[in-house]
Amino acid sequence: MKKIYLLLLPLFFTELIYAQNQPHLDIKNINAFLKIKPVKKQVVGEVELQFMLNQACDSIFLDAKNMEEVVLKTSKISVKTTSEKIWFYNDFKADSLYSIQFKYLAKPQQTLYFNNWDIPEKAQVFSQGQGKYTSHWLPSLDDMNDKIEFDLSFEAPREYTLISNGKLISKSVFEKVSRWTYDMQKPMSSYLVMVALGRFDFEKIQSKSGVPIYLYFAPRYHKLVEPTYRYTKEIFDFLESSIGVAYPWQNYKQVPVKDFLYAGMENTGATVFSEQFLTDSIGFIDQNYVNVNAHELAHQWFGNLITETSSTHHWLHEGFATYYALKAEREIFGDNYFFYSMYQTAERLSEASESGRGEALLNTKASSLTYYQKGAWALFFLENKLGESVFKKIVKSFLEKYAYQNVRTEDFIKVAEEISGKDLSGFEKKWLLANTFPSYEAMRLLSTIEFMQKYLALNALRELPLEQKVEDLKDALSAPVNDYLGQEAVIQLSLENIHSPVVVALLKMALKSESLLVKQSVALHIDKIPSTLKKEYEQLLHEKSYTTQEAALLNLWINFQSNRANYLELLKDKQGFYNKSLRHLWLGLHLATPAYKPENKTVIFQELNQYTNAIYDISIRRSAFSIIRQINLWSDESLLNLIKATQHYNYRFYSFARNMIKELAKNGALKKQINALSQQVEFRNKQFLKTILD
Ligand SMILES: [Zn+2]
Repeated sequence: MKKIYLLLLPLFFTELIYAQNQPHLDIKNINAFLKIKPVKKQVVGEVELQFMLNQACDSIFLDAKNMEEVVLKTSKISVKTTSEKIWFYNDFKADSLYSIQFKYLAKPQQTLYFNNWDIPEKAQVFSQGQGKYTSHWLPSLDDMNDKIEFDLSFEAPREYTLISNGKLISKSVFEKVSRWTYDMQKPMSSYLVMVALGRFDFEKIQSKSGVPIYLYFAPRYHKLVEPTYRYTKEIFDFLESSIGVAYPWQNYKQVPVKDFLYAGMENTGATVFSEQFLTDSIGFIDQNYVNVNAHELAHQWFGNLITETSSTHHWLHEGFATYYALKAEREIFGDNYFFYSMYQTAERLSEASESGRGEALLNTKASSLTYYQKGAWALFFLENKLGESVFKKIVKSFLEKYAYQNVRTEDFIKVAEEISGKDLSGFEKKWLLANTFPSYEAMRLLSTIEFMQKYLALNALRELPLEQKVEDLKDALSAPVNDYLGQEAVIQLSLENIHSPVVVALLKMALKSESLLVKQSVALHIDKIPSTLKKEYEQLLHEKSYTTQEAALLNLWINFQSNRANYLELLKDKQGFYNKSLRHLWLGLHLATPAYKPENKTVIFQELNQYTNAIYDISIRRSAFSIIRQINLWSDESLLNLIKATQHYNYRFYSFARNMIKELAKNGALKKQINALSQQVEFRNKQFLKTILD
């Protein structure tokens, strides 16, 4: 029966990896002094480790990847360093407190990122522990199941601000360096350790309950602080009161960094997030930090205060953070926003489920759609089934019972059953264990909401001929317009004959409406513009929305050749979102409009090229590369930057760059150009190019 063993083996391994690998060990404290050497990309550390054992043993280890020069400072103990671990040997007894001191040198290849140290105002260091392992720069435990109190001090170049978990208790400035001492009072899993270094200022606010909240920013972005961090206090106060458990850490900090790996990461008391969420007030309308802000903050309870024992229970982090973030957004953006968001994710989950791609919530290899959205849906369903106040009691008791510990799904269910007095095995089966998504239950729940009834009724008209639904569409577009009904009406109109006078008349209603989102949906969905709609459509260029302006500019430029110069002239000073996509589109269209200011073409081309440089955030570079690809104007500079981007540490960015290079190499002339440039790049770039050029 070999086959069965083969099938069982991977599962067995997964469980093995996640079982606590030193169950007898309890690390109490890691007290470390870390010298950050950004130019050398090194960390020199001195660590004091305190631990107890519940049974005698002859060795313990810390995870420590490729540490060099490990020197023990404690006598009677011996040490052995491997590429993965530092082992300590002694005749360790049960129930006594041990302390070990040692020094090490780390040259982290991941987890700690050193960016732009050739440009002082852009220079940054930041960590990303989850999925990357803190043990690449600080000996600790990769296993989440031993929670440790980390008290970290740092030495770093004096011109920069250093941020870490806990409370800053001292800072001393020397000739070339500053020393920063942070204190934590509660234990956490090692993946939540955080450090960031760079030119940062902060604004300090305070929650209703008195928790200090620090909003960090690079000085050059000081004008973006208010719109970027808008509603932070509201979100904090809402989460504290709706979760019912006081914020569990000494303070809360948020730090935006360039070239981050994800949207945000909820390190304990110290969230790091991507600079691409920086926004001005106009950008805020279409793309803002509110959801990520609330999501990472919710993790301070769900993930950090209580932590999964293994990835089987990952939804206890992501499902809860997603659901509570949406609840916070409901407070800010209203009920319709909330229900429409739930409806959209239900649609995505149903589609996956119906096409056989459904996944159980407790599947260790599930996608983020499952952990995040199906998890949020399970909680939304449970809250509706048990009632708001019972649900709140359950969450509160669950958090209090397991505070600073590790948890499993069955722990949550047990608390929920005890408090509700209900048997939840049906819920468990349908929402946590089944691969399918319970679409029927989800839609039944949503259709109890009056707004959703109206929306679904309008949505059901999609297949109907226009003449049978003109009045319904007119209703949807009459003042006062509901954002979601109005958008649905525009989408249905976009599927009709655009030259029909009825369609044009209805689109004019949409364009005259008060709703920014309804007008935006005209820009996004109507790309063939009848001349009878031209005048009204052109007004979209003046909308206070970068998404609208961008789509309108492109569509108008394509539809009305003789007006191209006018459109470009109108938007010549706009930058758009943080990623400059509006500016990049404008630059691209400028270059594609020979008659418009021919004397400026060289400068315009240079400007577009420079945004591909590594001094810019990956979101800016990605946008610039996309426009250059569309106008197909590659310079040696932009192409070389694209080649280098194929080796970036950010998975999504290097995948994007690799795919683009592969596509470009299909063109003979570009292939030659890439080949010539391959002489100028590092070995790993060359190796990658070899795979596509040969
Ligand atoms: Zn999350």
